[in-house]
Amino acid sequence: MDRVSSRAIRVALLSFLVVLCAFGLAILRGSARAETQAADTPAGLADLNATDDPDDLAKYGRIEERIRTAAQRDGIAPPIVDAMIRIFADDIDLRRAAHPGDGFVVVTDDATPGSIAFASLTFNGLTVAFYRFATPGGDVGYFDRGGRSADKLLMRRPLRDGLLRSPFGMLRHPILGYTRMHTGVDWEAPLGSPIVAAGPGTIETAGWNGGNGETVRVRHDGGYATTYAHLARITDGLKPGMQVERGQVIGLVGSTGVSTGPHLHYEVLVNGRFVDPMRIRLPAQRVLEGTTLAAFTVQRTEADSTRGASFHPLFSAK
Ligand SMILES: [Zn+2]
Repeated sequence: MDRVSSRAIRVALLSFLVVLCAFGLAILRGSARAETQAADTPAGLADLNATDDPDDLAKYGRIEERIRTAAQRDGIAPPIVDAMIRIFADDIDLRRAAHPGDGFVVVTDDATPGSIAFASLTFNGLTVAFYRFATPGGDVGYFDRGGRSADKLLMRRPLRDGLLRSPFGMLRHPILGYTRMHTGVDWEAPLGSPIVAAGPGTIETAGWNGGNGETVRVRHDGGYATTYAHLARITDGLKPGMQVERGQVIGLVGSTGVSTGPHLHYEVLVNGRFVDPMRIRLPAQRVLEGTTLAAFTVQRTEADSTRGASFHPLFSAK
């Protein structure tokens, strides 16, 4: 074989490999998207959440910022606003664009100063509402009209504060330079910020995991698992097989492994497949049943009949 044709073969082989890799990536991307959509059922808020038009963001701002501005305008105390945002945080991605017509209702509980009895949020034509309810067992929580808890099986953001730095999906790697599938979301937070288990579960792994650095994986009910990577430190004594509660501190934010700075790389898996933690439709952590549901329904109906709703629009009429 002469030099030219052997070179031509090498070039052809290389091109073939490049095409093969691109094809593989496309499949990876397609399956990840399909999985996200499958996990999103039933259709509802997740679909509305999916509209994240950059033009809308520039024009209308983010829902959370809009809520804070409207609350300030209408004289609602910041702690009440924080409490309200916590109630909705598991259900709606409040970082998405607000729209004209969006707004909220908040009713404080006179018997328990500073606590919210009822809150509803109208977002892109859909309203979600939650009622405070104390179960016979003494647990206090927020439930929708059907008795499903506002708290979902998993938290979308397993740390108190944190800026969403990199979303889920195809991204350009900040260090390695190439495009690849980002299998989780990155929450930027100060070094040493506590990271909590997103839901109750069992520790599957806790320790060093290559480029992910110090990593914890938790297995949850219903085929869900969560991974927390680049930790500065894993909580002392955390071992595979241990049970953890929702909100239990499992480690501290760090920059171990392949990382550009302190952040939490957070992954959610459903039956072993990566899904977008910000977009999946998560099941409620708790669903009221039987006599508890009946008691809740009585209280909710009473609250509905006595409440004078005062709607706070996110955009003032001009
Ligand atoms: Zn990441």
